[in-house]
Amino acid sequence: MLLRGHDCKPYCRGPLPVVGCCQCARPLAYGAPMPSQPPVIDLHTHSTCSDGTQSPADVVASAAAAGVTVLGLTDHDVIAGWAPAAAAGVERGITVVPGLELSTQAGGVSIHMLAYFVDPDHAELNALMATIRGHRDTRMQRTVELLAADGYPVDYDAIVDYVGQGVTLGRPHIADALVRTGTFGDRNAVFDEVLHGRSQYYVRHWAPEASDAVCIIKAAGGVAIMAHPFAHARGRTVSVSVIAGLVEVGMAGLEVHHRDHDAEAMQQAGALCAQWGLIATGSSDYHGAGKSNRLAEHTTDPVQFERMVAMGTGSSLMGAHR
Ligand SMILES: [Zn+2]
Ligand SMILES: [Zn+2]
Repeated sequence: MLLRGHDCKPYCRGPLPVVGCCQCARPLAYGAPMPSQPPVIDLHTHSTCSDGTQSPADVVASAAAAGVTVLGLTDHDVIAGWAPAAAAGVERGITVVPGLELSTQAGGVSIHMLAYFVDPDHAELNALMATIRGHRDTRMQRTVELLAADGYPVDYDAIVDYVGQGVTLGRPHIADALVRTGTFGDRNAVFDEVLHGRSQYYVRHWAPEASDAVCIIKAAGGVAIMAHPFAHARGRTVSVSVIAGLVEVGMAGLEVHHRDHDAEAMQQAGALCAQWGLIATGSSDYHGAGKSNRLAEHTTDPVQFERMVAMGTGSSLMGAHR
């Protein structure tokens, strides 16, 4: 079977290549180097466009070195990393999956909603990302004010200068600033001491209703997958009934395999996917040196990935793919 719309170029748009290309009739496979081998699929990573420590191109290079063949770049509330990741993917023989991780909530409980294959030009989605980034920005200013008032050597303008324009700001950037001044040894130490959710310096930020976010992702042709749904160590998690409500409005799957899930959480998420016919993913949530998560420490089954590819219509695979 041949599919229309695939132009054999790195940035092709339209229907996604699954079986064969309509123009060159070559069989398609994910991950260029050894198409006869099963792909190694890691769909959740962060770059310096949000709170990762490597540029998008360096994340792709690290993925290649780690044996990943299909890499999802999912920066928080921004898609600025897609183009450089795609270019690096061509160079390194890595298939790049366009994605992002939206900060949402339900009943005041934080939900990270992964979105794949969205239309990068979708107006409502872009407006939503900009609004969330604006609120994150305000929150960072307030957090820095509180810390500085107690003598911590942090300055909002200096942090923004350091990370650059257009980057989604988050608490990790404050943590990194305090590590650079030698106040703390590493990011984790800053979070443990002053940036955790019960800290006097913790400032909440507005986030959209998860159900609204799912509807916008769907309208943008994307595939919505809830990240680490039962990661209890990260804070409160939503109930199964909230997840059911999100499935009702079009959420397509759950991230089952993630280091913040213990065996019971993975079992619970996997069982829900089986019961409700949802897509089950697994990924590293790699942040470069910012977290101890290693690329490909969890991966996604190729069959599950094929379901995502078939469902997403807003954008296509990028980087190297045949
Ligand atoms: Zn997350
Ligand atoms: Zn993440």
